[in-house]
Formats: sequence, structure tokens, C-alpha cells
Amino acid sequence: MEFLDTPDKDGFYGSFGGAFVPECLKTEFKKITAAFLKYKDDAEFNADLNDLYAHYVGRPSPVYFAKNLSRKHGTDIYLKREDLNHTGAHKINHCLGEALLAKRMGKKKIIAETGAGQHGVALATAAALTGLECDIYMGAIDVDKEKPNVDRMQLLGAKVISVAGGTRTLKDAVDAAFEVYVKTYPDVLYAIGSVVGPHPFPMMVEYFQSIVGKEARVQFEELTGNLPECVVACVGGGSNALGIFNGFLHEPSVKLFGVEPLGKGTALGSHAASITYGKEGILHGFKNLVLQDEQGNVADAYSIASGLDYPGVGPKHCYLKTVGRVCYDTVSDDEALDAFYELSRTEGIIPALESAHAVAYAVRLAKEKKYRNILVNLSGRGDKDVEYVLGLKRNVSESK
Ligand SMILES: *Cc1c(COP(=O)(O)O)cnc(C)c1O
Repeated sequence: MEFLDTPDKDGFYGSFGGAFVPECLKTEFKKITAAFLKYKDDAEFNADLNDLYAHYVGRPSPVYFAKNLSRKHGTDIYLKREDLNHTGAHKINHCLGEALLAKRMGKKKIIAETGAGQHGVALATAAALTGLECDIYMGAIDVDKEKPNVDRMQLLGAKVISVAGGTRTLKDAVDAAFEVYVKTYPDVLYAIGSVVGPHPFPMMVEYFQSIVGKEARVQFEELTGNLPECVVACVGGGSNALGIFNGFLHEPSVKLFGVEPLGKGTALGSHAASITYGKEGILHGFKNLVLQDEQGNVADAYSIASGLDYPGVGPKHCYLKTVGRVCYDTVSDDEALDAFYELSRTEGIIPALESAHAVAYAVRLAKEKKYRNILVNLSGRGDKDVEYVLGLKRNVSESK
């Protein structure tokens, strides 16, 4: 199967991607691209990044054979433990990369939007470490809902800017952050939280996450003597999935599965499965598969896992679907919740609700017994979700 690893010079993966940005930013984006391409092959930059991965993040994260879960379902299931990273998820991998790049480019500040606050916390962490200023834009509703993450960002020295316009959620936070960025870009790097946004961000974030797949491949081969038969990861914007897929994209024997959130069902507004149900459109400066109504209005995205609820998806995923290299499928809120409990009880590992989607899909595959083994990217830990999940259970028992 023929496909491209990197975008063309305009940032397109097939018909997806590109950079639909105001004229004034075009030169700046060329500068960011040039800086990235220079430093990704720069020995000193890589030494700095690898030193942080090893001693600050705690890489390599282990691959763990989940024997209880495997025995229960009759198929060997392995977990790449990104939940064990400093800050509890894979996002720190690209936030450190973006922060080091900002420093090399002479920027004073990094800014970003955040929904539930996970990207904000990871970026605030990277900013604290590297001595950059950090402004995080967050919808006013999210600021109220996600107080612990707001507290963490502030504790880490970031400024959290509450956005009161529009629906007061993620979409408005993106607009507000972008508006400021257009005026301040000479001193600022916009640090995007996934493999989304205009070129070169999808390419950059994928590169910084590819460490996950590189490690996982070596570790899996050490454990089993072979490559995995399939690899499963959840897809919000798509960064943890592309991270682990990168170790296996050119191994045709390895089946790759991207798992999207089906939320409460297939009706528009009830899920965030952009690859499965989206149509081609431009969102936040890049062409991708966007959840939209008949008139082309961007739909609300929903998932129980706030890190997955985005109405678009990274352009490379759209491309990998088109060329048939990755199989995309969906898992509902209820299935993810079952997996959240199951992994906690069988293995003593509480997964993030996002990662629980990948675990649920692995269990589904395991029950089919088509494959001998499955490698799952456990993108984050679930401490952040415990209170919420237990609250759901209380509601159920109270209503009985
Ligand atoms: C943010 C997040 C995701 C979704 O983002 P991707 O870019 O699709 O990886 C998945 N898992 C966890 C734990 C997250 O925090």
C-alpha cells in the first residue's frame, strides 16, 4: 500500500490539511516550519528533548502485558503505559517539544486554548520548566466545570483567560486565542494540543509523539519476539494514535485501529466521531472531516471523555482512512465506562476515560478471537475522571 508519511509542501496529506490562515500569518508559519525542520535534526535540540523525556517525563514508558484481562478474554492484550508519564498522559510529549522549539525561536510566550484543561496543564508544565510565559484560553463554562485543572494551571504560573463570548466553550476559546495570536505572533508560539490545526502543526505534533511508537515497537518485540498483530488507540484530534501508529505504519502485517467516541449515539450532536460521520470541510484553518449539518454548520461534538470531544480530526487520519491503512471504528460512552471499571478491577489500572475507549475496543477485538495479540495505547490515567464517574453511579443508584 502506497501512502505518504509527511505532507506536501503546502501541508496537504492527499486532499486534507493545508493552512487556511490570514495572509499576515503565512510568513510566520513558514518560519515555524523552517525552524521545526531545522531543529528536528539538530543534535543539541534532540539531546535536550531526549534528556527531558528520560529524566523529567520518565520515558520510556513501559509496555505491560495485561495478563488478567488477557486471560479473561482469551487474547493477549498489552498496554503502552503513557498514563505513567509526568502529568499523567501523552500530551507532555508534544508540549515539551513545542516549548523547546519556542525557546529556540526566541519566543517569550506560548499560548493555547484548552477544553477540559488537559492540554492547558501539560503546556503550563512545559512553560514552567522552560521559563516561558504561558496564556491559556478557556471557555467560561469550562473554567467553572474544570476547576481543579484551572487551579493546576495557575499554580504552575500560567495565566488562564476565561472567554465569555459565544457558547463559552472550546470553540470560542480557539477564536479568542487566535485573535490575540494574530496581533502578537512575533513574540508568541501558538502551541496546538493535537495533530490538528493549520500546517505545520499536525506534522510537528505527530513528530513529537512518534517517540511512543518507536519505543512500543522495540518493547513489544523484546517481550514477544514479534510485532503486534494489531494496535489500538483512541482518536480525539489524533495525536496519541499517530504517535503509536508511527512505529508500525509500514508493517503491512500490523492492523491499526483508531477508535472514535460514539457518545450517546449516532445522532448529530450526540457523539464526536468525525472520521466516521464527518464530511470534508475547513475548521480552525485546515481541511478535514468535520461534523456538520446539511447546511455545513459545524455541529456540537460530545463525548463522556472531554479530551475526545472535538468536531474535527487531524488531516493525516483523514488521509490514512482514505488510503485504507487505518481502520476507524467507534465506542460508546457506556462501553468506555465498562472498560474504565474493568481495567481498574482486573489490572489495578484506572484509565483516562479517553483511553478507556481504546481498552473497550481491544476487549471487543479480543472477544472475537481473530488476533493473537493486541497492543493498546493507554494514553492517560483516570484520576481526573474518578469523581465524575462515581458521581454517575450515584445518580443511577439514587434513581433506582
Ligand atoms: C487529550 C487526550 C486524548 C485525545 O487527544 P489525541 O490528540 O486524540 O490523542 C486522549 N487521551 C488522553 C488521556 C488525553 O488527555
